[in-house]
Formats: sequence, C-alpha cells, structure tokens
Amino acid sequence: MNSPQTSQKKIAVVGAGPAGSMAASLLAGAGHEVLLFERKGGAWEKPCGGGVTAKGIERYPFLLDAMIEKKSIRHIELLDHQNRSVHLPLRVPLYIYSRKALNELMLQRALSSGARLVAAHIKALEPKKAGMILGDSDGEASPHWTLHTSHGSFEADFVIIANGAKSSLADTLGHNFTTADYSSAMGYHLPLREDFIRIQFLKQFKGYIWTFPRSDHLSLGICSKLSEHSADELKSFLHLFARKIYGRGIPANAYFYSALIPTPELETLHRLKITGPSWALIGDAAGLVDPITGEGIYFAIRSAELLVQSLLEGQVDQYPARVQEDFGLNHQRAAQLMPTFYTGRFWGGEFTTRMIQFARASRTIHSTLTQLFEEQDYLHLKRRLKQQFLRAMMEAALGVRPRSEKAI
Ligand SMILES: Cc1cc2nc3c(=O)[nH]c(=O)nc-3n(C[C@H](O)[C@H](O)[C@H](O)COP(=O)(O)OP(=O)(O)OC[C@H]3O[C@@H](n4cnc5c(N)ncnc54)[C@H](O)[C@@H]3O)c2cc1C
Repeated sequence: MNSPQTSQKKIAVVGAGPAGSMAASLLAGAGHEVLLFERKGGAWEKPCGGGVTAKGIERYPFLLDAMIEKKSIRHIELLDHQNRSVHLPLRVPLYIYSRKALNELMLQRALSSGARLVAAHIKALEPKKAGMILGDSDGEASPHWTLHTSHGSFEADFVIIANGAKSSLADTLGHNFTTADYSSAMGYHLPLREDFIRIQFLKQFKGYIWTFPRSDHLSLGICSKLSEHSADELKSFLHLFARKIYGRGIPANAYFYSALIPTPELETLHRLKITGPSWALIGDAAGLVDPITGEGIYFAIRSAELLVQSLLEGQVDQYPARVQEDFGLNHQRAAQLMPTFYTGRFWGGEFTTRMIQFARASRTIHSTLTQLFEEQDYLHLKRRLKQQFLRAMMEAALGVRPRSEKAI
C-alpha cells in the first residue's frame, strides 16, 4: 500500500461489514482519521451463507489464519430439479464463517489500525459544498459532509458508503437500483451436521436452494430474483426440499433469516456510478456481487481495497476502472449469462439438468464445472466449453466418467 500523498483527512465509513471495516482498517493504517459508523453497535450475525471461496482465502490469508469459527468444505453436490446429482470434489477448499465472527475479525483489524467505531445509524448525508477529491493538494480543510444520526451530527471530508444492500444513502448519491436488480434470500438454521455444500436448481427459477454446513448447525437457504417469487413461495420450496432430502419438515422453532442480495442486471452494471467528488460506494451498497451466485464477501473486501489504493494515490476517479479490470467485467458477463444459466434450455432439457448430466458423463466437463465453482470465471467459460465439446462427446460415448461419479 502506498503511503498517503496528502494531508490527513477525516473520513467517515458507514457500515462495519467486511467492506467498511476493510476500508477503515487500510485508511486508518495510512494515517487518516477514520470514523466507522455501525448501526448495530458492533459485529452481528448478518443473514448470509458465510461462504468465502478460494480466491478470497488466497488474497486475504488473515481470514484463514484467524482463530475464529470456520468450516472447511471440500465437496459440493449439485442437484437438478428432479434430484439428479453430480459431486464436485474441490481442489482447494472454501470456508464457511459465522458472520458475527468474520465481522468481529474485520472490525478488530480496523480498530487496531486506529479507526474509531461510532455506534450510530446514519440517517442522512448532507453535502456541505461541491467537493474536492481526497488527495487534492490544495490544502482545503473544511468538511464536505455532515452525517446525521438520531443522536447528533458528524462531519467528514470524504464519505464511504458501505452499508450493504438496498442502501438509501447510496440512493441519495444517484445509485438507483430497481426491483430487478435484487434477489430475495431467506432460510433457516437446522439442527443438522454435514460436511459438504448442496446446491439445488429448480425448474425455470433464477436462483437456487443451498445447504451450507456450519460448526453447530446447517444453514438452509434459497434465493431468487426479487420480483419473481413471493416469500411464501420461497418458503414452500424450502419446506419441500427439507422433506425430500431429510425426510422431515423444517421445525416450527427453527431460526429464520431473510435479506436482499444485489444481483444487478447488465444494463444497471453499465450505468453504475460508484464514486464522485468526496464520496464512494463499496461492497453491496455499490452492487458489487456476483450476479449468478450472490457471492459478495470477497467483492466487498476487494472493492474496499481498490478504493483505498485509488484514494491514497490521489486518484479516486480511477476506482471504477480498477473495479472493472479486477472483477467488474466478469460480473458483467455473469449478468449476461444469468438468465441462460438458470432458465435456458439445451438439447431439449433445462440447461442446469444438462450441465449435471454432462458433468456425470464426461471427465472433461466435470473438471470444467468444478473449476467454475472454484473460480467463477465466466469470461472464458463459453470458449472453454466450445473447445471441449467434441472431447466431452467422445468421453460420454466411451464411458470416461469422472472419478467422483464412479465412486457413488
Ligand atoms: C441470505 C444470504 C446469503 C449470502 N451468502 C453469501 C455467501 O455464502 N458468500 C458470500 O460471499 N456472500 C454471501 N452473501 C452476500 C454477502 O452477505 C454480502 O455480499 C456481504 O455481506 C457484503 O458486505 P458489505 O460489507 O458490503 O455489507 P454488509 O455485510 O451488509 O454490511 C453493511 C453494514 O452496514 C450497517 N449499516 C447499514 N445501514 C447503516 C446506516 N445507515 N448507518 C450505520 N450502519 C449501517 C449494517 O448493520 C451492516 O453491518 C449472502 C447474502 C445473503 C442475504
């Protein structure tokens, strides 16, 4: 990280999730005065699967080194709508975290770097005047923002909005998402212990059901485009799933959770504005989530890092280009592929069913699918599948099955 090229600034970060705490930690570490606002007062169990894929663990080894609750997963089972399955043994594990533990870890890093936690709900942002960009060297010292809480106001030179999905503060900065840009997610904690992830695709359904094992329970959940299914419908899918897979319904006293996930449409991603003079959006507040999987923890942390690099170099306007180059293009491709992935048809059947059948029948397709779940590289997927088609057909004809399928 470069050292700051500017005089010390007072920076307000709204939201102490993975995005906000990462930004606060890096900026305070670089010598800026950082106020980190959190409406919950500290770390909490945000509704979330808590899954961090290999790319996150590789880039942020502190996530693995920390002595906090996490579960290592080396195996994913994919099921189609008729419960036909394929097993994907992961070459590198992914980890499932308790969100309270993960948020606490990130928050403590921010505090030990010198950020100050303010337990307050930011209700509104008031710009003081058209701002200079953090990093300008004209020595201007007056505040650019007033942040209003129910217990008083705070001033800051620069404000970072990291307050999660459906941020009304982001909306005031012109970041308007429509209903089509969100997925609704909900689920239950079940008193079960497993050691693999299960993903089930449903018929003509833009989303999926998951089971994510944690140390002391199983998190069962479902997500789908917000406008397409009611909460009651989603719940009934979960109850049906539990009866089919576990042979019993969901206990009436099971802990229930629900929240929104930003899954922006392609057109929205094209017009996304994530920074301006003296403000920036990171993480879910900026809509930086994989539109196919709903994975957002890694992108929350990474976007914070890309923003802080830009700020410390005095080039906040470079932040969107950095995001685009780093993972934004991949997200755009995912947004483009999303409808085909979930509701497309291929060879007279559901795309997801065919994907599972091909992966069962061909070692090459099985390996590509495993890689897709490990790396989420959508940019090169089509080309790779095209190149592999003939080989996959030969393998299917000759019965060259993936090893994991033979073992079943
Ligand atoms: C059901 C579900 C399952 C998911 N599963 C996964 C998964 O397995 N893996 C994965 O990578 N991603 C998953 N996600 C997405 C992931 O939860 C988010 O992408 C991630 O938490 C984004 O981090 P963030 O820091 O941007 O926002 P958040 O984690 O939402 O943090 C925002 C913080 O801001 C605070 N806040 C909000 N408003 C204010 C305010 N006005 N003033 C002060 N504080 C405020 C909130 O209390 C919160 O602590 C899932 C999401 C859902 C809903």
